[in-house]
Amino acid sequence: MVDATVRKHISQHDAIGRLPLITRSAEVTAVEKMDEDRRSEVTTVLNRWLEEAGLEDTYGPISGEHDWERLSEQLLSAEKPGLARRVATLSERYRRPKPMLVRARFSPDIDFLAGQYVGLSYNGVPRAYSIANSPTEDELEICVRRVPSGVLSPQLCDTLSVGDTVTVRGPYGELVLQDHSPREMVFLATGTGVAPFKGMIDYVFETGRDEFKGETRDVWLFLGTAWLDDLPYREAFEKLHRERDNFHFVPCLSREPILSDWDGESDYVQHALLKHTDVNAVAAPLGAELEQWIRQEPDSDVEALLDPTNVDVYACGINAMVYSLVRAVERIGVPPERIESEGFG
Ligand SMILES: Cc1cc2nc3c(=O)[nH]c(=O)nc-3n(C[C@H](O)[C@H](O)[C@H](O)COP(=O)(O)OP(=O)(O)OC[C@H]3O[C@@H](n4cnc5c(N)ncnc54)[C@H](O)[C@@H]3O)c2cc1C
Repeated sequence: MVDATVRKHISQHDAIGRLPLITRSAEVTAVEKMDEDRRSEVTTVLNRWLEEAGLEDTYGPISGEHDWERLSEQLLSAEKPGLARRVATLSERYRRPKPMLVRARFSPDIDFLAGQYVGLSYNGVPRAYSIANSPTEDELEICVRRVPSGVLSPQLCDTLSVGDTVTVRGPYGELVLQDHSPREMVFLATGTGVAPFKGMIDYVFETGRDEFKGETRDVWLFLGTAWLDDLPYREAFEKLHRERDNFHFVPCLSREPILSDWDGESDYVQHALLKHTDVNAVAAPLGAELEQWIRQEPDSDVEALLDPTNVDVYACGINAMVYSLVRAVERIGVPPERIESEGFG
């Protein structure tokens, strides 16, 4: 069921190709991969698990060439279902294409609002990408996650290079900053859904919108991915978190704890949000499922708590996730007119 409060957008690729033309020859000025090759970390962890389970002589040592699926099946037959599941997750991580995440910059200096997107065509294929930088800069930046079965994103990850030319259309989109207000700002994203928020957050701090009539506004970013190195712009957000008392960065990493000693949030973004919400500020009964989350202690290092009656909320990511985020935010009492959202399809 489609939630009426999630913002509609031009989601059809052919419609992207009909946006107003900015230029047919934007030059690519920078391309950078953002995730890491963690294969040796994966095999180290896997061999440690086998050793801990006393199975290193039977199945180990595991090397890069190992038949991971067979190992998972063998562990299932050996009645080690938990270990088999973790092996399957690590195997997926080991074998995923590289890179999964890239950022790229383009030459055109255009007028846009923080949070908008452009239609980008490369090798004749048009797709929408959020502008990931602030309008105060004189280039455009995008951040792309590879969809392995996709048409354009693998090309952007594998072959886009400095000096290439792309066609840029737009700008488009209504996921932009709400009117300046005294309320706190809460950004909720999964994966590259954070791209429009990178531009918005940079713009907010550059232009002093984190203050209203001399009072500081808190700015929150809850960002969900599977692994630590899948967090787009992690270093930039961590730096802001260290430097600004009013910026709270809460990464939510669902799979990272199985690979490293990550002890921050590993729950879904909407659950981490509830853990950082002031239970005394929530008026309506939440129901058993949400109630259990709002009463849990946060695992992040953020001590502040959110008052849902005093926030402007922005949500972005894959449609299904955005619907869940918006539903949870409405349930804790954020009025619908203070929620802006956009789905990627
Ligand atoms: C307004 C808007 C802004 C967007 N901004 C970004 C952005 O900043 N960064 C970004 O990486 N993508 C963004 N997208 C998605 C992007 O337009 C493409 O859909 C994506 O890059 C996949 O294109 P493709 O040609 O590789 O796959 P396609 O061949 O077009 O499609 C493959 C399938 O993957 C699905 N899909 C699309 N995106 C994802 C995803 N991220 N994860 C899993 N499945 C997906 C599609 O629904 C489709 O079913 C945005 C989409 C919209 C509508």
